[in-house]
Amino acid sequence: EKRRKKTAEEHAAGVLAGDRASLAQAITLIESRSAKHWDQAQQVVEEVLPYTGKARRLGFSGVPGAGKSTLIEAFGMMLCEAGYRVAVLAVDPSSTTNRGSILGDKTRMERLSKHPNAFIRPSPSGGTAGGVAKKSRETMFLCEAAGFDVIIVETVGVGQGETLVRSMVDYFLLLVLTGGGDELQGMKKGIMEIADDLYINKADGINKQPALNARAEFNRMLHFLQPSTPGWTTEAHTVSALYHDGLKAMWERIDTFFSKVQESGRLTERRRHQMSDWMKAMVQEELERTFYQNPGVQSAWPAFEASVISGKTAPARAVQQLLQQFWEDK
Ligand code: GDP
Repeated sequence: EKRRKKTAEEHAAGVLAGDRASLAQAITLIESRSAKHWDQAQQVVEEVLPYTGKARRLGFSGVPGAGKSTLIEAFGMMLCEAGYRVAVLAVDPSSTTNRGSILGDKTRMERLSKHPNAFIRPSPSGGTAGGVAKKSRETMFLCEAAGFDVIIVETVGVGQGETLVRSMVDYFLLLVLTGGGDELQGMKKGIMEIADDLYINKADGINKQPALNARAEFNRMLHFLQPSTPGWTTEAHTVSALYHDGLKAMWERIDTFFSKVQESGRLTERRRHQMSDWMKAMVQEELERTFYQNPGVQSAWPAFEASVISGKTAPARAVQQLLQQFWEDK
């Protein structure tokens, strides 16, 4: 007997029922790079969109070894035990290159992955960094529609990961380590400015005091920076993911953040901006893709390029003529 393929409505119904297997299946559909799945995937997204928006969307970032998986496992377990449903999604732009994925290599969050209230999804691989982020955003909507209360989007603190994740979450947490002394040395101002809070991990044992010192130093530094969320003061705190020290305070801090931004209307505003920014990013990506895939553009490109390099044609004129070629081909 041949198995009938699920319709978009059936996919959506499974997701809305909170069924984990259906959710995983729908995400696989979204992540498919085959053109024939695209329309159905978008139908599923449209079916579930009215049921999204109720979750707290958190972004957790940090360099490899900062303790992200240890923290998310302990923090996620604490929330699951308290009755929350927690989804963990990884956004790993490095998985788009042939270097392989940083977040997907090892077995991570083993206990959390077995908890009935948790759902863990690794980063989609292949495509562009923007493509990975787009799929993670759609996956986030599916998880919300499936009834998850807290979505943790994890990313590696290298390259474009942080900015991509910042653009899809409400609250962005940066996990850092003390390096014995000049902590701020290697830390870029830009990354501190997109964080809603900084957490210095591994504040335990002999590292506790250095972590507390670093905290004071970070706070002095943050004082001079623009906060990522207007009306909210970004702070540095210490935590020990391994010894579960400071996890409750972290959740209380996040709770305070949400009360504030809900009350001030900043949350709604941020989410609206994120949706329109997302649309613009998609337009950009789609235009660029169709431009470079256009046969007329492809055949005309080498001659124009050579002409520009040899100084015969002004770059702007070459681009204008290539674009003209593109529009005529449409
Ligand atoms: P990730 O690469 O950011 O996901 O980091 P991991 O969670 O894999 O942690 C890297 C290493 O740091 C592991 O050996 C952890 O056991 C250790 N680690 C994580 N959190 C803590 C902590 O709070 N204290 C101590 N002492 N070690 C930790």
